[in-house]
Amino acid sequence: AVLETGWNLDNSYARLPESFFTRLNPTPVRTPKLIILNFPLAASLGLNAQALQSEGVAVLAGNRIPEGALPLAQAYAGHQFGHFALLGDGRALLLGEQITPRGERFDIQLKGSGKTPYSRQGDGRAALGPMLREYMISEAMHALGIATTRSLAVVTTGETIIRQTEQPGAILARVAASHLRVGTFQYVANWGTADELRTLADYAIQRHFPDVQAEPDRYLLLLKDVIKRQAALIAKWQLVGFIHGVMNTDNMAISGETIDYGPCAFMDAYDPATVFSSIDAQGRYAYGNQPYFAGWNLARFAETLLPLLHVNQEQAVQLAQDAIFSFDDLFHWYWLAGMRAKLGLFNAEPQDEALIEGLLNMMKEYRADYTNTFRALTFAREADTVLFERPEFEQWHEMWQARLERQQEAKASSRQLMQNSNPAIIPRNHRVEAALESAEQQDFSVMERLLDVLSNPYEHSPEQADYAALPAPTDRPYRTFCGT
Ligand code: AMP
Ligand code: MG
Ligand code: MG
Repeated sequence: AVLETGWNLDNSYARLPESFFTRLNPTPVRTPKLIILNFPLAASLGLNAQALQSEGVAVLAGNRIPEGALPLAQAYAGHQFGHFALLGDGRALLLGEQITPRGERFDIQLKGSGKTPYSRQGDGRAALGPMLREYMISEAMHALGIATTRSLAVVTTGETIIRQTEQPGAILARVAASHLRVGTFQYVANWGTADELRTLADYAIQRHFPDVQAEPDRYLLLLKDVIKRQAALIAKWQLVGFIHGVMNTDNMAISGETIDYGPCAFMDAYDPATVFSSIDAQGRYAYGNQPYFAGWNLARFAETLLPLLHVNQEQAVQLAQDAIFSFDDLFHWYWLAGMRAKLGLFNAEPQDEALIEGLLNMMKEYRADYTNTFRALTFAREADTVLFERPEFEQWHEMWQARLERQQEAKASSRQLMQNSNPAIIPRNHRVEAALESAEQQDFSVMERLLDVLSNPYEHSPEQADYAALPAPTDRPYRTFCGT
């Protein structure tokens, strides 16, 4: 008997104006093979994992179109490292929107599914390594409690693609609240009509901010809500040491989810100047610059909305500016709240910022590992860093202990708060690379074990100690790549 997969697809995006997308089927691939499937995610989407593992592989590879799907490539634009360009899904297709048993709506996208009208010089394909990397890091982010697109499955295509070397081709099935980007608004604001812009904004509101639908100033509320979600998101990135690496406006989601896992990586030693991406020679998207460029991207978003904010242009600009200026304060508020939690603080004192800065400055000076330092503070352990032996650290530690004693909550509650706010496990670069190297040799067990550990990042277990360990010292800085 043929198992029902449980596809329950709607196509609200396909009902938007034609210029927003191109209808197109995936290009079939030679021999699809399922490499990894996300069972809990499949279940939450109302999909039968057994069916996905058998008949469903053809769908995940783009060889079969599931019932109800209307595949399409989305058009968008974007500022890439500051330069405006017309872009669009060059190697991805939206199959449709899965309506879950709970009535939620999620985009199902195939990434690596073949050429589209937006492919430019690209081959429309993706390599296995980067797709597995996106799978691991996006699922790690989810487990850390950070809003993100999810990864449903990776299949290999049985075809070879050419990058620096020959690589196995692969397709990632990506799940997102939507794939609306700041760049989607830039595309319609630049090349669409006034009506189309309003249609797009109404669509975004309906999908992500239905509460404001009936408000007369709903477009301003859309802007403010997107700013707020991004402020919360970027604060969470900073708090776990996540470096996105390619914060172009086409890679900023209106939903507030982290999107586009190209050259991202987690910071080891604390240093705001940390950059991993090989194409970011100027360090534009360094760890410490992320809040600034989030604000910059949101200003580009605000510009697209100007015609909808007020009939009077000057007043529209004023409203947009006020909203944009609020980003810094919002970000700071979320960041400070998160940092207090990382230090076990329940209430606020005016000197808290100085206390936090004091710690971060020392961490920078002694190149203390960001994740392990906070984890060591949580359990009053020695971290493998010179920091804890410094007299200035001892001084700081006394101040912190005194601060903890000035609050009502017991030490045990503080420790619990810290444990819940300081992950033991992040996707360490050397661990991710080791998983990918084994995968290249057809051994996926290393990745599966890593994924298992990553799914529980705040747990305190001795088995995890190994995964919290730092890589052996090396002179070669870690480098990441995008568009591969
Ligand atoms: P990204 O740097 O990942 O945000 O991608 C920027 C743009 O390049 C997007 O429009 C992608 O769809 C497109 N792109 C990336 N890789 C390829 C590829 N192999 N073939 C076609 N288009 C691609
Ligand atoms: Mg992108
Ligand atoms: Mg990308």
